[in-house]
Amino acid sequence: MNIFEERESNVRTYCRNFPDVFHKAVGSTVYSESGVEFIDFLAGAGALNYGHNNQYIKQKVISYLESDAIAHGLDLHTMAKRDFLEKFSEAVLIPKKLDYKIQFCGSTGTNAVEAALKLARKVKQRTGIFSFMGGYHGMTLGSLAISSNNGIRLGAGVTSSHVTFMPFPYGYMENFDTIEYMETVLTDVNSGVEKPAAIIFETVQAEGGVVVAPIEWMQRLRNLCDRHDILLICDDIQVGCGRTGPFFSFERANIVPDIVAISKSISGYGFPMSLLLIKPEFDIWEPGEHTGTFRGNQLAFVGASAAIEYRESINLEYEVKLKESFLNTFLNEEIACLSEKIVIRGIGMIWGIDLSDRGASFAKAIAQRCYELGLIVERVGRDDTVIKILPPLNIEMPVLRKGCSIIKQAFFDCIN
Ligand code: PMP
Repeated sequence: MNIFEERESNVRTYCRNFPDVFHKAVGSTVYSESGVEFIDFLAGAGALNYGHNNQYIKQKVISYLESDAIAHGLDLHTMAKRDFLEKFSEAVLIPKKLDYKIQFCGSTGTNAVEAALKLARKVKQRTGIFSFMGGYHGMTLGSLAISSNNGIRLGAGVTSSHVTFMPFPYGYMENFDTIEYMETVLTDVNSGVEKPAAIIFETVQAEGGVVVAPIEWMQRLRNLCDRHDILLICDDIQVGCGRTGPFFSFERANIVPDIVAISKSISGYGFPMSLLLIKPEFDIWEPGEHTGTFRGNQLAFVGASAAIEYRESINLEYEVKLKESFLNTFLNEEIACLSEKIVIRGIGMIWGIDLSDRGASFAKAIAQRCYELGLIVERVGRDDTVIKILPPLNIEMPVLRKGCSIIKQAFFDCIN
């Protein structure tokens, strides 16, 4: 028994499912200490869109470190922060005609979500938040309160009184007009619900089971917020930074949220970093009103600038479209037919194989068999019945094909 087996309780997640000790990773391949090679279809839950140890980003970080530049800058103006702000504006915001102020927020995604809730409440002078069933926004108390899965909420004493969970257009709600329902809740004097400060949504509910919001639904959501003077917050933490193709996942619907939360892959190298994009008219915080010691992680700024250069140099958006087409065809033509009632959902480089009708133990067996065959995949969804495919965006085609063939083999092995 190693130290991990001794110390980890059985409620911890990934580590239980992937019981090796890992020591090295390059691109889309992770190596265990005992020399076994794994293809990575988890990609740091979306934090490694550019792969492990991306060589371009790594060299920029090494040069920065070797120059004795500022490693930790708190909130000071630094060269690394300036470079990032300039690059992000010039390469991402301006070409998309997006006018946003940037608020750095601590280190992880949940910090950005907390900040978004805090800001929206101040802007609108209301406390309510509408969130969606199936949504996941983080583990600190504010973001947990707006995450719907009871398995992670109950017993935490989260203050749910300000949160109203609305149905997401999915599953048993697919034929239900969820926007019309929200309209009724907002206008009917008998709804018992106060007008919220904001509605927060994911364009793809990733942890919720890879559920892709329809374009028209997102446009109607934007319109609903406009008509009722409610802020629209897009949590683009997992599927932003190019996961669906364009840099922001909401671009697909041609909408502009009032606040956008970004984290995970923004730093390019797995360094913790999170930020909010805020429409200028809602940028009302005074200096010092939202601070945090690690908002000044300089290595994250360096990685983030290099990541923007890297994605442009290889035309990542186009690559994602090609791989989306491959995954779509493979999953629908070679996996969906292997067993009854397998549902495939996805977009860009996030796909789900929904095995709800086969049950959680079948999904677990598939993920475990994949691991035995050398592939790391995570299970998501309300009962962990969806196999989530989330490779680095720059995964080489042969590696992507090999990972997919492992999934197919796992199905053969588990069905027979
Ligand atoms: N929002 C979404 C959509 C996420 O997927 C996650 C992380 N899985 C978070 C928020 C929370 O981010 P973090 O774990 O970095 O706090």
